Parts: sequence; structure tokens; C-alpha cells
Amino acid sequence: MTYTLAVRGARVLDPLAPQPRPAVRDIAIDADRIVAVEPPGRLSFSDNCKVLDATDTLAIPGLVSAHYHSHDTLLKGCFAPMPLEAWLLHAVPPNYPQRSREEVRVRVLIGALEALKSGITTLQDMATVHPFDAGEVDTILQAYDDAGIRCVFALQVGDVPGSRPLPFWDELIPPELRGGATVSVRRGGSARELIARIDGERKRHSGRHRRITWGLGPATPEICSEEYLGLLAELSAREKLPVFCHVYESKGNAAIARKHYGADGGSLVRHLARVGLLNERFTLAHGVWLQPAEIEQVAAAGAHVALNPLSNLKTRSGVAPVRAYLGAGVKLALGTDNSSCSDAQNMFQAMKLFALLSADGGEKAFAAATVGSARAIGLGDELGRIAAGRKADITLLGLRDPAFAPLNDAVRQLVYTEPGRSVRHVIVDGRLLIDNGRATMLDEDALYADVERLMPVLMRDLGAIRRRNAALMPYVEEANRRTHALDVGLDRYKIMQC
Ligand SMILES: [Zn+2]
Repeated sequence: MTYTLAVRGARVLDPLAPQPRPAVRDIAIDADRIVAVEPPGRLSFSDNCKVLDATDTLAIPGLVSAHYHSHDTLLKGCFAPMPLEAWLLHAVPPNYPQRSREEVRVRVLIGALEALKSGITTLQDMATVHPFDAGEVDTILQAYDDAGIRCVFALQVGDVPGSRPLPFWDELIPPELRGGATVSVRRGGSARELIARIDGERKRHSGRHRRITWGLGPATPEICSEEYLGLLAELSAREKLPVFCHVYESKGNAAIARKHYGADGGSLVRHLARVGLLNERFTLAHGVWLQPAEIEQVAAAGAHVALNPLSNLKTRSGVAPVRAYLGAGVKLALGTDNSSCSDAQNMFQAMKLFALLSADGGEKAFAAATVGSARAIGLGDELGRIAAGRKADITLLGLRDPAFAPLNDAVRQLVYTEPGRSVRHVIVDGRLLIDNGRATMLDEDALYADVERLMPVLMRDLGAIRRRNAALMPYVEEANRRTHALDVGLDRYKIMQC
């Protein structure tokens, strides 16, 4: 048997059977796949096999962020916490002039680099391309290809223009202040034409990038017509495509649901089920404001929930009912969300918060960040475990680090102690992308210089948006106060869930 890469002497941690002190193993990789995981000494490696000495490391399956957006990675650290509806008006692309191709490339690369250095090997990117531009799609996908990270790509598109997701918008915001403020993209053409464009892009890129697969991204049901969602459900079923959608992220979303989805009892979940989307290919991103009956419906449908506990707190959206999800048997995934509202592409932070909110010893958080996220993005058979037959996506953490000394319980220390500092090597698709902490596929210093050079234009545009929003914010704050006062039948502002 010939191998292309041997990872020798790592302790291998399996999310489905975590041991406190995992056994030492050699991992044999041929091209993009793991072909054997054996005790040391059993496998023999030929001279032309690259050998990575992984002594004193912990091998974990590459972490999978099941919810992420590449479009605002350059805005990390720009905003203090603010309500979701206010943050959207500062951060989402329709508020900005079209970005240069160079900026688009750099923002994808810096996000991918941050993810890789934090042990993330796969990102589910719900990317907003505004205004729609096939060349920008090419730029994004080529940047992912060049970075070497795995990506499940979905164009984030709705077909209902305006600001319906913002409660009390029409009542409160003076028309003269609205200007270009929007949370959705104005599109020409019918729902069917929009689907044809999205699927045309998918087909156009088919087979071009081996580590990129496609999903569908109806941004949020509030900005999608019933016809459009129904057509997406048909396309998903026909082509076996995963579907990603923001559902019940904030109390405002619940308020809009009660108002606009009367035919479905005010329930977004029932609405999604009726249009044919609520099934095992569907992931609800966030899922903070579901009612108990909706949680049961999601569990019964086999749909996934991708939790984003960090961004939910930073956007003052509340806390997802993690314990209720676990109790109902909902399939859980974990995401890192936007860089401008989380503000880190770091699954260690997300796992720790998940574990604390769910009173979990760490096992469920680690499972959500690996096998759970892999299933949600449609790669459950390929990713999430270090086992023969799976893709060779592996993160190696140095155990000679205070986080793991002494090694009492690997999974608990991974989730509760390790901040991401000990990520040493990262392998994606059988290629060593991070070697002793440095990127092998990218010139990091050149990338940092590019970021510096491009930021003045972005900061100028952000300055204009801040000035526009300064006049809007008193009204948005009043809308937020009114939303808080509404009774939507549940309260997700409580941190501790018994
Ligand atoms: Zn999101």
C-alpha cells in the first residue's frame, strides 16, 4: 500500500467515542483520503511518503463551521454589541457600494486563513454577492481554491426587496431617512429566473474546484416569496443540495412571523414545512426563537440547527434553547457566523459557549463542531471523524501546552481550556495547509500588506454608512424597544435554561 502522507504518533480523538487520554495512532493518507488509522509500528511507509512527526499532539477531525459569511471579514472589531436589526444596517453588503475584486479576494483569503489557523478545515459560506456579478463569484471560489480550505458555498439570495425583516420599519422610519438602508438585495426578474441564475452559477462551476461543493441560501424566509422557496425546495430535492437559511435569529424575526405568516399560525417552521423545505437537507441557522412545538417539528423532520451562540449574544438576540434541542433530539451543528458580529472565526469559543449553555461536559459541543456540522452541510459521510475512508481533514494540537498539561480529559480540555493557541498543523484534503503554525499555500505577509492597503476605501465607505445610520438609529432603537415589549409566546433572553 502506498501513502502520500503519514501522520505519526498522534493521540486521535474521536467525537463519537472520546477517550480521556486517547490512544496513540499512526494515520496513513493517500491523496485526499485517510486509508488507515493504526497503533504505531503496524504501518510501513515508503521513502516517497511525506512523514509528519505528530508526537505529543492531539489529532481531531478538522473543525467545521456550519454557518459563516465571507463578505464582512474585513469588518472584524468595527462594532460594539448592538441589536441585530441595527447591526444589519451597518454590516450587510447591500448597504455598501460594490467592492473591488481585489477586496473580495482578500476578504475571502483572510477569513480562510483565520479559520485554518483556528483549526477549521471547512466553512459553509453564505455569501452575499451584491450587486450580482458572476465575476465576483469566480473571485470568491478561486480564493477558496488558492487557500486550500474546504467550502460549501451558497449564494445568499432573497427575492422580496425592502426591509420586511425590520419590525416597525414602515411605521417608525421617516421615508426621507431610509435612503439606501436595506437588509435585502433588490432583484429584477421572476422567482423562476432567479432560481435559474443561482443554479446556472452552480452548474457553471461544477467540477472546477475539487474542495468546493454547493448549497442553496435563501437568506431568511422574510425576504423570500413562497414561490421562490417552493422552487428552491424542488431544486434541493432534485439535485440533493443542502439548504441554509437564517430562521428565528432575533425576537424581531418572531414578531414578523406572527404578523406575516398568519396562514401558518404565525410560525416560520410551519411555513418552511408547507413550502417543502423542512427536511434532512435543511439547516436553520441560529434557531433562537423557536417555540416548543416548532422544536418538535424540526426534530421530526430531521432538519439541522446550526447554532451561533457568540453572534447571538453580540447582536443582543438572546440564547438558543440548546437544552430543549438536545432533549428533543434535534441534529445540532455549530457555526462562527460573521466576522463583524462574532468577531472570531474560532470554534473553540463557540464550543465552550455551547457547552456552558447546555451544561454539557464537552462531548456534545465537540460532536456538534465536527460530525454534527458535517452532516448539516451535506458531507456527513466524508468529514467529521478520523477514520479510514473519510477525507483527510485533520487538525493537530500541540499537547505540550498548558491547556493540556496535565492531560486529564482530552475532550473537556479541548472545549473548556484550549483557546485555539495550540493549533500546530492543519491538513485539508490530504495537504498540509498549516505547518507549525504557518500557512503553506498563502504568503501571509503579502496578504497582511494587501489588507492594510485596501482598508482606507472600506473605512471611507463604512464612515458614510455610520453617518447615514446615526440619523436612523433613534428610530431603530425605538423599534427595538417596541419589539421587546411584544408578547411572542416565549422568552429567549434568559441565559440559564433549567
Ligand atoms: Zn448568518
